[in-house]
Amino acid sequence: MYDTIIIGAGPAGMAAAIYASRREMNTLVMGKELGGQLVWASDIENYPGYKSINAFDLIQKLQDQVKSLGVSIKNVEVKKIEKQEDGTFKLFTEKDIFEARTVIIAMGLSPRRLAIDGEERLSGKGVSYCANCDGPFYKDKVVSVVGGGNSALDAAEILSKIAKKVYLVHRREEFRAFEALINEVKNRQNIELILNSSPVEFLGQDSLKSMKVKNNKTQEIKEIEVDGVFVEVGRIAHTDIVEGLAERNEKKEILVNELAKTKTSGLFACGDVTQNEYKQITVAMGQATTAALAAYQYLQVLGSEKQ
Ligand code: NAP
Repeated sequence: MYDTIIIGAGPAGMAAAIYASRREMNTLVMGKELGGQLVWASDIENYPGYKSINAFDLIQKLQDQVKSLGVSIKNVEVKKIEKQEDGTFKLFTEKDIFEARTVIIAMGLSPRRLAIDGEERLSGKGVSYCANCDGPFYKDKVVSVVGGGNSALDAAEILSKIAKKVYLVHRREEFRAFEALINEVKNRQNIELILNSSPVEFLGQDSLKSMKVKNNKTQEIKEIEVDGVFVEVGRIAHTDIVEGLAERNEKKEILVNELAKTKTSGLFACGDVTQNEYKQITVAMGQATTAALAAYQYLQVLGSEKQ
């Protein structure tokens, strides 16, 4: 029986683990993706204390710190959470069952799909959701990035240093990324902007060969030859695991109060998976700190009630 099980091994999960273990809580971290959304990031330039830090270095540092505090990190997906009559929780993975007095959900978000023809079939065969992971496969090739936010512009910038040519396809005229990043991308010689346009189909038999892109103003469709396409159109919450245990908004984000509490006592949530407006590492870690301390306080109150 753990005092707390943290679901999610990204920055929020790691921050929660640090605070929980330092309160002597018997803590376990379970994560499908070690590093969480950091695995899709490159260099991070807004993490206080570091002018710039590589995402993989940050993942490593966080994990080292958590492990040094005696916390185990299991690379496994939690499939179901059940609250028991005695107030504790059972967490089910494919093979095992884990038990905890409190649970902190820090699962982050997953990539949104375009839901167009060819996307699913060619996923992993030219269609990618991670420029950092798959970018190196496209040395001197022609690639496209879809999206107009920080992730898309980050990806375009990374890929422009690897690929021969990068088409940045965005459905509007304006980007929603940081100004400095927009300027950097606009100044890259090998990035071509295709604005007011959306992909409508990915083509290729065994691997991606081209994409059809529709101009949303003229309705004209043109086919562009590409070796790879990186879909960076935002992230969505997969939170069915808390159905019945926590309220969610229309984006399926988990609703928590200022103490990171859900509607179920002992169940907390933090980071990008909650209704937080700003999906930033520092925000996620701050809320994770609150979640861990609130979980500790919850156990303290339970303990004193039993005495
Ligand atoms: P985002 O900010 O939500 O941007 C998603 C982009 O994809 C938007 O430009 C959107 O277009 C476009 N889009 C959405 N659905 C689409 C569809 N079906 N077809 C075509 N285009 C579509 O998502 P994000 O870029 O992944 O960023 C998520 C969060 O992480 C943000 O808060 C961001 O600031 C943060 N982030 C920060 C950094 C950093 O600090 N360096 C790096 C990466 C991400 P519209 O603009 O028309 O809506």
